[in-house]
Amino acid sequence: MEEDRTTGVNTPDAEQSPAERPALRALLSYARPHRGILLTVLALTLAGSAAGLAQPLVIQSVLAKLMTGEGLREDILLLTGLLLASIGLTWLQSWLSERTAERVVLQVRRGLIARLIRLRTAELDRTEPGGLTTRVTSDSTLVQHAATGGLIQLVDGSIHLLATIVLMGIVSLPLLGITSAVLVVVGIAMGVVMPRIKRVTTEAQTSVGEIGAALDRSLGAARTVKANGGEAKETERATEAATRAYRAGLKGARYHALIAVLAGLIVQASFLAVIGFGGALVAMGTLELAALIGFLLYLFNLGGPVLSLVGGTTALQQGLGALARIEEVRSMAAEDDVDGTPPAPSGPPPAVTVDGLTFGYEGRTPVLHGTSFVAPAGKVTAIVGPSGSGKTTVFSLIQRFYDTEGGRILLDDTDIRSLGRAELRRRIAYVEQDSPMLAGTLRENLLYSAPDASDEAVADVLRRTLLDGFVASLPDGLDTAVGARGLALSGGERQRLAIARALLRRPQVLLLDEVTAHLDGLSETALRRTVEEAARNCTVLLIAHRLSTVTTADRLVLFENGRVSDHGRHEELLERSALYQDLTATQLTAGPAVATAG
Ligand code: ADP
Ligand code: MG
Repeated sequence: MEEDRTTGVNTPDAEQSPAERPALRALLSYARPHRGILLTVLALTLAGSAAGLAQPLVIQSVLAKLMTGEGLREDILLLTGLLLASIGLTWLQSWLSERTAERVVLQVRRGLIARLIRLRTAELDRTEPGGLTTRVTSDSTLVQHAATGGLIQLVDGSIHLLATIVLMGIVSLPLLGITSAVLVVVGIAMGVVMPRIKRVTTEAQTSVGEIGAALDRSLGAARTVKANGGEAKETERATEAATRAYRAGLKGARYHALIAVLAGLIVQASFLAVIGFGGALVAMGTLELAALIGFLLYLFNLGGPVLSLVGGTTALQQGLGALARIEEVRSMAAEDDVDGTPPAPSGPPPAVTVDGLTFGYEGRTPVLHGTSFVAPAGKVTAIVGPSGSGKTTVFSLIQRFYDTEGGRILLDDTDIRSLGRAELRRRIAYVEQDSPMLAGTLRENLLYSAPDASDEAVADVLRRTLLDGFVASLPDGLDTAVGARGLALSGGERQRLAIARALLRRPQVLLLDEVTAHLDGLSETALRRTVEEAARNCTVLLIAHRLSTVTTADRLVLFENGRVSDHGRHEELLERSALYQDLTATQLTAGPAVATAG
C-alpha cells in the first residue's frame, strides 16, 4: 500500500476495486483503526441506556411503596444516582465519539488528498476537478458521521430496543403483544423509506459536486467569461446544479419528515392502544396500576432507541452513498511510483529515442501512428509541424503522463518504462506550453523542484532568462506573490520564469513547448543562446514555431499527422519538403525582426 508509507495513515487497501468490496465493509475499514475507542463509546452508551432503563423499574417501585406507605429514601437516592450516572455517561460517550469522528474524517481526507494529487493524467482528463474536491470536503463528512455516531447509534439503538422490549415483557406480556403489532407495521414502513434516503443523498452530493465543477470552470476562466459577457450563463449553470441539490434535499426532507412521523407514531399509537387495553385490564383487576404506569414509562422510553435506530440508519445510508463516491476515487488509476527522492541525475545527458510510438487519447481517434525519431545527446532538436500533429503529446509520453500503447521511448538504452516515474521525471525538466505558475511567491515557483539552489545560482539563472531587471523592479523582489496560475504576470514573464525554473533543476533532458510564443525578438535571441548554452549539459527538445529557433537547431524533426515526415537540417528540409516550405512561409514566424511583445 503506497499511501501508508507516504501519508502515515492507515488507509484501506487501495488495490481492491470497490465493486469487489461492499460499501459497508469499506465503512467498517474506516472505523476499524478506532475500534478500541468505539467499543468504549458503545459500552458507555449501553451503560447510559441501562441507567435510563432502570429508572422506570425504580419509579414503579416508588409508586407501589407510595400506595402502601413504605419509606422512600433508598429509592430516591437510587433514582438520583441513576440520573447523574446517565448524564455523566452521555457526556463522556458524546465527547469520545465526536473526537473519533473528527479523526476518521481526517483519515479519509488524507487518503483522498494523497490519491487525488497522484491521479493519472488520463483520469484527470476525464473528471471535473470541482466534482473531485467535494469528495474531500463534504462527502468525507458524511462518512465521518456514518462510521462513528451512525454505527454506535445502530448498535445502541438495537440493544436498547431489545432490552426495553424484554423489560416490557417482564412487566406485562399482554401489553407487549399490543405494542409489538404497532412496532411491526411501522418497522415495515421504515424499511421502505430508508433505501430512498440513500438514493437522494447520492443525488444531492453529486449535484453539490456539480456546483463546484461549474464554479471552477467560471472562476478558472474569469477573464474570458467577463470579456464575453458570460456572467448570466455561468450563473445559470452553477445555479442549475444548486437547484438540483435543492430538489434532492427537498426529497430527502420529505423522507426525513415521514420518518419523524413514523417514529412518533410508534409511541403515540402504542400509547393509545396500551392505555385502552391496559385500562381495561386494570379495571378487570388482572393488572396492577403500578405495572401499567411502569409499562407506559417504558413505552415512552421506546422513543429513544427508535430514534437512535432511525438516526443511525439515516447516517449509515447517507454515509454509504458518500462512500460510494469516495471509493470511486480509490478505483481511479493513480501513479504509485512518484514518491521518494530519487538521486539527482548524474553523468552525461542521454540521447532520447522515440521508436514507433502509437497512441490515442481515451475515446478519441489515434494521435500518433508510429512516430520515430532520435534526439542526439547534448544537442538541440527542434520539432516542427502543424498544430494538432501530436508534438505536445510526444512530450507528455516522454514524461509518462500517459503510457504508450505501441512503441517505446529510450533514454540512451534504457526504456523509460523501466524507470519509476519519479526517477524518470527527476531527469527531465519540462516547460509547458502555457507555463502556468503555482499560486505563491516567485521564489517558491522558481525553487519548486530545486529547493537547495544557491542565491548565486538563482541570480545567474534570472540573468540568463532576462528576468533580473523585472525581479528588481518588484517591491518585494522574489517574494512577490504571483496569484493563481501566475495570472498577475505577463505571458512572456511566465514563460521565462518557467524556463528559469527548468534550468535551476539542472536536468539531463530539457523539454520546451513553444516557449518563445510570448517573447519579443530580443528576448527570444537571448533565450536561444541560453538554451544553446544549456544544451552543453543536457539534451534539448524544443517544439518550435519561430524560424530563428529552427534554423539554429542541430536537428529538425518534422511532424505531420502523428508521423515524422522528415528530419534533417533546416536547409535540407527546405529543399525537399513541401510541408516544411509551407510551414516556413506561414506558421513559423520570422525571428528577431518581428517584435510581438509578451
Ligand atoms: P500539437 O502540440 O502538435 O499542436 P497535441 O499533441 O497537443 O498537438 O494534440 C494532438 C491531438 O490530440 C489534437 O487533436 C488534440 O486535440 C488531441 N489532444 C491533446 N491533448 C488531449 C487530451 N488531453 N485529451 C484528448 N485529446 C487530446
Ligand atoms: Mg502543442
